Amino acid sequence: MINQVLPGIYRIEVPLPNNPLKATNSWLIRGEKRNLLVDTGFNTEVSREAMDHGLHELGIKMENTDLFVTHLHSDHSGLVNHLATPETTVWMSEADGQVVAESRESFHWGMFNEFLIVSGLVDSGVENDFTKHPGYRFASEVYERFNLVNEGFEITAGDYRFRCVATPGHTPGHMCLYDPEKKLLLSGDHILGKITPNITAWNFNTDVLGQYLQSLDKIARLDIDTVLPGHRYVITDCQGRIEELRKHHRARLDNVLDIIGSQTMNTTQVASRMRWDLSFKKWEDFPWGQKLFASGEAMSHLYHLTVKGELEMSLENEIAWFSKK
Ligand SMILES: [Zn+2]
Repeated sequence: MINQVLPGIYRIEVPLPNNPLKATNSWLIRGEKRNLLVDTGFNTEVSREAMDHGLHELGIKMENTDLFVTHLHSDHSGLVNHLATPETTVWMSEADGQVVAESRESFHWGMFNEFLIVSGLVDSGVENDFTKHPGYRFASEVYERFNLVNEGFEITAGDYRFRCVATPGHTPGHMCLYDPEKKLLLSGDHILGKITPNITAWNFNTDVLGQYLQSLDKIARLDIDTVLPGHRYVITDCQGRIEELRKHHRARLDNVLDIIGSQTMNTTQVASRMRWDLSFKKWEDFPWGQKLFASGEAMSHLYHLTVKGELEMSLENEIAWFSKK
């Protein structure tokens, strides 16, 4: 499905088969000489066909189009290699671009096997096989010609003049595009309407949730009328949505503390008792990927509470255990 959302800006809705996210919003900004396409969809036949069809309908040739990828996840970067022509410039942040460039060969995937152990998932009977990860299965083929950009880099397309804003949290190198004059934000998965961005910790290198909340504060300081997110609907009350996202995480942190109570628990035990907005009734029914994402989300909250000094963490038999201080 294609629709115009602002003068010169179109949404190409790229379906994500068998995924709770349903579709990725790919934003096409028509320019006089060069167009700009933001985010792509999975590297699967269904996503590929929808994207090719969308570009064809809009009369867009990739020879005259550059690409900006907000973050490394395959539902945003999966079609980079398929779409990029020798004339296409592909921009991405340094931190995330390096991971996508290595694609399936990346050492990055090994950390999921470590996470499956440290979270307690393997101990609970979950298969230790990161190749089941949708991000792995639907990644772009190797693409090595990224133009790696940092905070403040400017990209012009049509009447729009965007500035790259680093918003780490959802991924280490997540970036939004901001046009201060048009008060417009292309938010990737940093701010979504209706659904909350998945904030997952896969190891204890960074307080990912703390980082995400800081990135929300950073965007809250900008003057914004319209947010074009990576999934679902256009957002017109950016401040209101940011406040809802802050409240969501505050409630989750309280929920995690309640679940732990006076016990010592691992990440999987906490995740299986948290509330999830999924159609599966019982934790046991969650598919492999949803157990992984739920546990990653639980761990970002557990580790944030540990860094804040409310929980303490210990490692026993390679599994991380949490209890109240
Ligand atoms: Zn996404």
